[in-house]
Amino acid sequence: MATSRPASRESARGLQSPLQYLKGVGPQRAKLLSRLGLETIEDGLFFVPSRHEDRSRLTPFGALGEGKAQSCSGTIVGISPPPRGNPRAPFAVTLRDGTGYLTAVWFNQPYLEKVLKRGQTLVLHGRVARFRNGPLQMQHPDFEIVEEGEDEALHTGRLVPIYGLTEGLTQRPLRRLIWRLVEEHAAGVPEILPDAVRRRRALISLPVAVRAIHFPGSEAELSAARRRLVFDDFLLLQLGLAIRRQREGRARGLSLDPAGVLVGRLRRSLPFALTDAQERVWEEIRRDLAGPYAMNRLLQGDVGSGKTIVAAMAILTAVDAGYQAALMAPTEILAEQHLMTLEQWLPPLGVPVALLTSAIKGRERDARLAGVASGAISCLVGTHALVQEGVEFRRLGLAVVDEQHRFGVVQRAVLRRKGDNPHVLVMTATPIPRTLALTLYGDLDVSVIDELPPGRQPIVTAARTEAKRAQIYAFLRRQIAEGRQAYVVCPLVEESEATDLKAATEMAERLQREVFADLRVGLLHGRMPLGGKEAVMEAFKAGEIHVLVSTTVIEVGIDVANASVMLVEHAERFGLSQLHQLRGRVGRGPWKSYCILLRSGTSSAEARRRIDAMTHTQDGFRIAEVDLELRGPGDFFGTRQSGLPQFRVADLLRDGRALEEARQEAFDLVAADPDLALPEHRGLRAALLARWRGKLELASVG
Ligand code: ADP
Ligand code: MG
Repeated sequence: MATSRPASRESARGLQSPLQYLKGVGPQRAKLLSRLGLETIEDGLFFVPSRHEDRSRLTPFGALGEGKAQSCSGTIVGISPPPRGNPRAPFAVTLRDGTGYLTAVWFNQPYLEKVLKRGQTLVLHGRVARFRNGPLQMQHPDFEIVEEGEDEALHTGRLVPIYGLTEGLTQRPLRRLIWRLVEEHAAGVPEILPDAVRRRRALISLPVAVRAIHFPGSEAELSAARRRLVFDDFLLLQLGLAIRRQREGRARGLSLDPAGVLVGRLRRSLPFALTDAQERVWEEIRRDLAGPYAMNRLLQGDVGSGKTIVAAMAILTAVDAGYQAALMAPTEILAEQHLMTLEQWLPPLGVPVALLTSAIKGRERDARLAGVASGAISCLVGTHALVQEGVEFRRLGLAVVDEQHRFGVVQRAVLRRKGDNPHVLVMTATPIPRTLALTLYGDLDVSVIDELPPGRQPIVTAARTEAKRAQIYAFLRRQIAEGRQAYVVCPLVEESEATDLKAATEMAERLQREVFADLRVGLLHGRMPLGGKEAVMEAFKAGEIHVLVSTTVIEVGIDVANASVMLVEHAERFGLSQLHQLRGRVGRGPWKSYCILLRSGTSSAEARRRIDAMTHTQDGFRIAEVDLELRGPGDFFGTRQSGLPQFRVADLLRDGRALEEARQEAFDLVAADPDLALPEHRGLRAALLARWRGKLELASVG
């Protein structure tokens, strides 16, 4: 391993010099490099290879085995381009080494004809297969052309870095450039971790890691380098979150610690007792509310786990202490649903609740706003728009936000300014793998309701195709004959609400006319006027509607225990977490419940895996993991737009454990030195500010 020079401030600045002025780069190549996001020497040093190839032992052709990826090298002795008129035939090259022959083939790569020439020596990497007892063949291998007089030691005979490329830039020149950067600048990369942290976590130094991530001497060196860089990624993320939380959460808060009269009366009015999980979580929340700091807590619990009642207890605690509370939901329908739920519980205790959505206009709106401003309304329920609109509370003590993943960090900061630094409780029914929770909500404390109310029966989930439609309808009819109710969910057909609506409307009309003429079919969609939605929901709750056809507006929060069966049309078009949320609408009562996923037309392999996961498990956390695997972390809940810094090396799927270590380290560091002002934290502080690029400032406003 290389030895590290003491890092100086000079070298830190040197790392910011543009690559363009490096000898041998020039404007042309600089442009290509910039397409890869490489502008400065530092960018180059941290341009991590997508993988390494073990070329310490090139396999002789004679010893190539079928199946696994291998590296080998040989000289081109024959080239056969696809025959004219048959562009779909492969471009084939025959190579020879001392031990035999190998054919390499590529499809749809016409440019190869200009690149590969007889007599060239190639290094290849790929899988070999044998076709119809013919010669060994390598399909679509990665290859590099060995140039005369090149420093071959850099490109073979070792673990060789393979970089992501851009058109016009090939592997070898890029590798040469990075090699030069590493030789000349890696040792000058300033260490950012305090010695104590490095020792505690057994991490190699940053200069050593930077060298080894490109040109490791062994697999062990490579993995030590990865471990170090992954740790830095996570530490810088978690440090930012810890600092945010320090500023927001540890800020002076309202101590809401009433005797608990209202909560006690609510408990006595309930027809059920709280589950152990609900009790535990409630105790965590109660302690937060009573304490001297503002609460910042995420309440996680699978669909149907009973989060709303816990939220209601928090709301009553705020009211009991003389404050107001707000409850915000992602959609108007869900806000109305929450209103209906809270109306059962709060007004009987003398606690007035009101709804405010953008659909409420004119005098009615003014009256409610006045009630909120005067304090006459104790609990205001609305959509997330509550934050943006000109709502002034008299004394806001608590804000409950339902369905966090549609509610960003920035909105949370705005919300906090609405009152005297109110407590914030974020509820999510979307189970989030722990690694992601630590990333997205690293600045929140987390409470989990990991238990469903007793008596819930598993929901029987079945995947069906069009051929079974008649039987499915007969099944729905039998359920209804037994006194139950059914949902029929129609997907978003295109990226248009209008077509979405049309599909659901037509489905409702057809079912009413042709299938369930003797029953009542209702329709619910996002574009209905407010009163209309409320009326349909009330009628469904009252059992007057037997079959409720709906768009995905019912995805979250609808709570009708008598509904025992859900038919999802075009299930292949729904995302996995969406399907899980939808399914959560049934199985809320003591009856056996069913979810039928109807696949129509063709569906992708991924769609089939989603449906498969649904039929095999009902565990929300397991489903979230599959979802994360299928979609990748960037896409999952739109983390890309979350305003969090990008990782250089770390991968949430692979590196979960390191994330937890880094989180602990980060919170310890911030607890000991909140502004990272100590001299041994100076490097870390600079790296942190660079990584968050001002977004940390934004958070501190809240
Ligand atoms: P979610 O966590 O999905 O928001 P809800 O709060 O809507 O779940 O609760 C689902 C249903 O379970 C509601 O009808 C609620 O009244 C009921 N419920 C909540 N807690 C319990 C409990 N401890 N025992 C029985 N039923 C409960
Ligand atoms: Mg809910």
